Amino acid sequence: MQHLQGLNDAQKEAVLTTSGPVSVLAGAGSGKTRVLTTRIYHLIKEGVPADRILAVTFTNKAAREMRERLTHRLGDGPLPFVATFHGLGRELLQRYGTRIGIPKYFTIFDRDDSKAAIRQVLKEMDIDPKEMNPNFVLSRISKEKGEGSTPAEFRDKYAQKSFQSRVIAEVWPRYEAIVRKEKALDFDDLISLPVSLLRDHEDIRREAEQLYSHVHVDEFQDTNGLQGKLAGYLSAVHNNLFVVGDIDQTIYTWRGATIENLLGFEEKYADAKTIVLAHNYRSTKTIVAAGNQIIEKNQNRKDKHAVTDNPDGEPIRLHVARNAESEARWVARETKKAVLAGTAPEEIAVLFRTNFQSRALEEAFLSENIPYKVLGTRFLDRKEVKDVLAWVRLALDSEREVDRVRAVQSPTRGIGKVTLGKLIDGRRDELKPAERTKVAAFEAIVTELNELSKIAIPSEFVKLVIEKSGIASALQKGGEEDMERLENAKELATLASRYDGMPGEEGISAFLAESALAGDQDELDAPGKSGATLMTVHAAKGLEFDTVFVTGMEEGLFPHEAREGEKRDEEEERRLFYVAVTRAKRRLNLSLATVRRIYGTDFASEPSSFIRDIDEGLITFSEGEDLYGERTIYI
Ligand code: ATP
Ligand code: MG
Repeated sequence: MQHLQGLNDAQKEAVLTTSGPVSVLAGAGSGKTRVLTTRIYHLIKEGVPADRILAVTFTNKAAREMRERLTHRLGDGPLPFVATFHGLGRELLQRYGTRIGIPKYFTIFDRDDSKAAIRQVLKEMDIDPKEMNPNFVLSRISKEKGEGSTPAEFRDKYAQKSFQSRVIAEVWPRYEAIVRKEKALDFDDLISLPVSLLRDHEDIRREAEQLYSHVHVDEFQDTNGLQGKLAGYLSAVHNNLFVVGDIDQTIYTWRGATIENLLGFEEKYADAKTIVLAHNYRSTKTIVAAGNQIIEKNQNRKDKHAVTDNPDGEPIRLHVARNAESEARWVARETKKAVLAGTAPEEIAVLFRTNFQSRALEEAFLSENIPYKVLGTRFLDRKEVKDVLAWVRLALDSEREVDRVRAVQSPTRGIGKVTLGKLIDGRRDELKPAERTKVAAFEAIVTELNELSKIAIPSEFVKLVIEKSGIASALQKGGEEDMERLENAKELATLASRYDGMPGEEGISAFLAESALAGDQDELDAPGKSGATLMTVHAAKGLEFDTVFVTGMEEGLFPHEAREGEKRDEEEERRLFYVAVTRAKRRLNLSLATVRRIYGTDFASEPSSFIRDIDEGLITFSEGEDLYGERTIYI
């Protein structure tokens, strides 16, 4: 069997154990994902129908890569269902949701939509968002939903405890009302509703248990309670659940991830087989050693030690820069040097702990004229993209209030706040004749697009939306920046073309769902664009690169300090650093700025204590042209 060639014995065992529950526990770069993909291929070769195989990955990007790898091997044959948990939830709700009153074509609130809804509720309750951060409220609600609790349960349990909890207990049901009114589901619903659907409806559960004969989950250490349950339900009958993970890479506990799913696997599945992989295939000896040294500082873990046959490789480079700008410049120039020396730009990643760091880095890459791409929610956060999506949704369902408000103003068409207010309040008869004409013209476009949505293929439909809404002509009148905006809007049509094979409304709805899900953990592909990738450490999970820069190695930044009044989870921060370091195959660079400007004020920063977790013998200093020169403080 050719596909088994090159695998070590433990890996082979994992691939060949095709029945019963299996967990593969292993460190970074030991081939967990490779084993999972090979196993799927093996199952298909053994005659298991591809569409009976499910693989759940952590990000859309990982799902895409796995699909590509399988397509490459399988040719044109049917593919297994590869999706994130959110994508899986969406699929289940699309199949069975109508039975519990979920509309066939629901839309999905992405985190920004949810945040906006929370903000609206706070406003209605006369609570200043400065007093009660909408982000905080959302993440609390989201975590509770991830644990399967309801607003009523939350109120009973916490409402007496603090002012904050009382507010959240009141915001939550109102927030749900907004989501339902928009005929939408939020990210958490995509997990919690399928779980309750399967739990409470035996007939549906019986059907769903038959969907997949083999269930696979990558990055199992970062699943939450409900995700673990979902995997359990779907594999209950055939009992072929295959999970892989690394406890040391749990980096989403703040979102409710629980390593208990992985740690308790053997207990839950009495007949489970556990396979341990110790061999690292990804990185040089130096990087593997650094990874071991870092993670061994954590107390709360099971002992494990990675080994590799790879060469020693180069030492880890540490660069101490004067400030964030010069740090960014160093990273950009070193990237350029690496590319000139033959490293493919796609093989270079620049990692940061927090999003705001990307601005300085992007600026440096731009000014040094080095191609780069940002992995993040940027594309979907763009106003023009949101505008087009609002129009698309409105065209499908003209009752959507939030989208109507957005669409009526993009582009502006002389319908002001007052008119809008009258419309929203249903006081149409108070409209002046001039207002009435404008509103009628707007509504005619919506109606026309609605008709078109039934006959046009998705990509064509998105193009029609961009034209007929007036977005295209408004942007065409603008300057350079508007032209770029138009290109972004047009990119949506390219994205929609993936669904051209599906009938009108269904295809458009699938496209909307994807664009909502794409902003979840990672990016939309920017096809054809090559360059180094800038991203958060969280987003880099599961990926690997020849050369990695870990920036902002400063106390308070990485490890990141906790929010006021909260305790920093030092061990999770260190796991995050372990994830960052173990992304590198051959070259690892660490950098820091001795002065960093935050909210316009310069702060002197201390080097990250994490640097000292690495044996100094593995590190060498890299002097940029503006080295600050206080190396003695580290050694
Ligand atoms: P992470 O924990 O970071 O997700 P992982 O355990 O999933 O890592 P993979 O990404 O599957 O690791 O594998 C790491 C690298 O090692 C990949 O480039 C993979 O192709 C390679 N690899 C895995 N197993 C072998 C092997 N037996 N021989 C050669 N290369 C291998
Ligand atoms: Mg992996």
